[in-house]
Amino acid sequence: MNPKELLEHILFAKISIFTPMIEVDEIVPIIKKQIPEKPIKCRYEPLTRMGWEYECPSCEKAVGFNKFAFDYTDEDPYCPSCGQAIDWE
Ligand SMILES: [Zn+2]
Repeated sequence: MNPKELLEHILFAKISIFTPMIEVDEIVPIIKKQIPEKPIKCRYEPLTRMGWEYECPSCEKAVGFNKFAFDYTDEDPYCPSCGQAIDWE
């Protein structure tokens, strides 16, 4: 079962998962971040001026490579800020 199927299972089959530590409302956003989403073309002008081309679809922070620091940045499979899986394909 992949993260997307698991999420659908929880949301649509109305499975209740309760443990002393975590509840469904807390699980859903965590699973959602495991489902890769396309990065968004950077819309925030100060970030594009700093060399960023893409932003995270969840938290809108810069992701991927920076054209001024390509030695240190890359197409990271996860957002370094919030953990959102990024689909670079
Ligand atoms: Zn993010």
